[in-house]
Amino acid sequence: MMETRSTCAYCGVGCGVIIQSDGRHITGVRGDPEHPANYGRLCSKGASLHLTARPEVLASRRLLTPRWREDRSLPWQASSWDGIQQRLVERLLALRAAHGPEALGFYISGQLLTEDYHAFNKLARGLWGTPHIDSNSRLCMSSAVVGYKKALGADAPPCSYEDIEQASCLFIAGSNTAWAHPILFRRIEAAKAANPALRIIVVDPRRTETAEFADLHLALRPGSDVALFQAMLHQMIWQGWIRPDFIAAHTEGFEAVRAQVQAMSPARAAQLCDLPEAQIIEAARLFAQSPATLSLYCMGLNQSSAGTDKNQALIQLHLASGQIGRPGCGPFSLTGQPNAMGGREAGGMATLLPGHRDPACPADRAEVAALWGVDSLPAGPGKTAVELFEAAEAGEIKALWIACTDPAQSLPHQALVRAALKRCELVVLQDAFSGSATAEFAHVLLPAATWGEKEGTVTNSERRISRVRAAVPPPGEARSDWQIVRDIARRLEPLLRPGKPSLFAWDGPEQAWLEHREATRGRDLDIGGLSYARLEQAPQQWPFPDGEAAGQARLYLDHRFATPSGRARFHAIGWRPPVEWPSVERPLQLSSGRLRDQWHSLSRSGTVPALFGGAPEPRLALHPDELVRQGLAEGELATVSSARGRLHVRVTADAQLGPRQAWLPMHWGSEYLLGRDEAGAALQGVNALSQDRCCPDSGQPELKYATVGLQGL
Ligand code: SF4
Repeated sequence: MMETRSTCAYCGVGCGVIIQSDGRHITGVRGDPEHPANYGRLCSKGASLHLTARPEVLASRRLLTPRWREDRSLPWQASSWDGIQQRLVERLLALRAAHGPEALGFYISGQLLTEDYHAFNKLARGLWGTPHIDSNSRLCMSSAVVGYKKALGADAPPCSYEDIEQASCLFIAGSNTAWAHPILFRRIEAAKAANPALRIIVVDPRRTETAEFADLHLALRPGSDVALFQAMLHQMIWQGWIRPDFIAAHTEGFEAVRAQVQAMSPARAAQLCDLPEAQIIEAARLFAQSPATLSLYCMGLNQSSAGTDKNQALIQLHLASGQIGRPGCGPFSLTGQPNAMGGREAGGMATLLPGHRDPACPADRAEVAALWGVDSLPAGPGKTAVELFEAAEAGEIKALWIACTDPAQSLPHQALVRAALKRCELVVLQDAFSGSATAEFAHVLLPAATWGEKEGTVTNSERRISRVRAAVPPPGEARSDWQIVRDIARRLEPLLRPGKPSLFAWDGPEQAWLEHREATRGRDLDIGGLSYARLEQAPQQWPFPDGEAAGQARLYLDHRFATPSGRARFHAIGWRPPVEWPSVERPLQLSSGRLRDQWHSLSRSGTVPALFGGAPEPRLALHPDELVRQGLAEGELATVSSARGRLHVRVTADAQLGPRQAWLPMHWGSEYLLGRDEAGAALQGVNALSQDRCCPDSGQPELKYATVGLQGL
């Protein structure tokens, strides 16, 4: 048996794994006892990764050969790589001649490796000349990115997992850590066991497993987070719990915020949030007066049309109370996907360039162009995820190249997304697994390698870069994503930049990574001191500049922030009610989320029967009293409808929810959650119902809140 060190393919905790194989087939997996993210522990998903590589899964669920069809009504034709590259290049060039470079958009994924991100970004912006490259990380992290940049000056989570053990108060907001980041939750449980004085506050409309574990659960009304955080700040100011010395020395803009939160008393917020006033006061006291308060937050804040406001309002609690820049405290955004962080670093998003540069800044574009050896980059920002599909539906974007994600299930406002995909003249889908909802709309399928078969790096929530390694060769004709991009780019280069040296002269992923590394030098995320060889020894946190012996576990220890003035910034943020309000027709507030044992749209975790043990099918959860009020019985089929579409689903009683709330897991698509839009077009999954409203600052859609009505069938 051979053992190969790698990283889990699922969530942003970024656990180290050891893959067991016979060199051709993956036979087992165990936690890496030396990886600082998990010290050998794995959750149910990580521990069953090897089962997703069983021969029967490879044979039945993987894309194994390139495929092509001229028209969606025609059957798929298998192709050689040579043949499909040639045809794809011809189609792309014809499209470019007819409509220009910006008619092509790229929609990629936080599950790609950093090397893959770099390859896609260089192809899109450096060679082809379109700014329209965005990632499904837009649905996951973009509000956290903008929140950090606005408040602290850089997209850099300032904390580490080891702060959990050093904290005296954990403030967990919009995160069911027990299910979404299970190994991190084990760490929280262990910290509480070792230090019973550790106070845990959970902010979540549902009484989740995480909330159950808390000392104080703030079961706020969905969408009222900013009101809660403002009232906590109001109370801190009123009681003298803020740190005027810290505010004066290290921040700017506080007076405007002080004036603004005056109106948001705990009594007022208690009404808006539907919380006891005493709970708000106690949360403010614990947050401000504990020796070290660490906040952990995730999709409940990010996936909102006020996502950036929610992030900023929470970070401001840290700034006002001086709970930042010391061990055990700070605002710590938890990443959903395994490499959403790496994608941000490599600039594989519409609003980012490599090395945390800004596509709207001519100097930043010129720096990247010089690094890549091209004349210029297209002016940005490009279209963000929802905008990209809106532009395709409007006929502005004519072709989409989609990699490692399933927008026909996972993006909001499915009716629009499906119309957009249908309208595209060319849809290229690059994926490891077959049978996604998006495949129905594709003209080209490019088979990609996946976990256990490819080499590269990922960055987890605590800025720690880990190596991902291949234990076995990819099955069939599948290839690494960076390699697929490189090979097509090399065919385009002689036509797009004749006589010039190749931008993709890479024999392996390390050369792509070295280019990425160069883009970080002198930046806040400088990894000039790292190499693949160094990462072979142990995963490392950034920044890790040349000449350093180790990466930095914590940022802003000198209380100098990444803004031009060196001061963190307060912003006056107004509380806005949710964009939809319950009505007689749609009285329920629907949220969605992740189950402990499943991942995204089930393409990988859905191949492991044991992972369905806890939830074999999706059910719409309602409070037991709500079930009675609706005249429904446990397991009964009902139609749930929003302003955008409707689904048929079984209902279940769940006392975790408050009255007038509903919750649906995000994972299921066509086989279980079939529905229609108002015009009768077929839809599937929870996003048949979700809103297309986005945060105006981050472009992140409102996936956690929609009002719905319910009717028995
Ligand atoms: Fe994988 Fe996340 Fe589970 Fe760790 S916690 S084993 S990274 S899914």
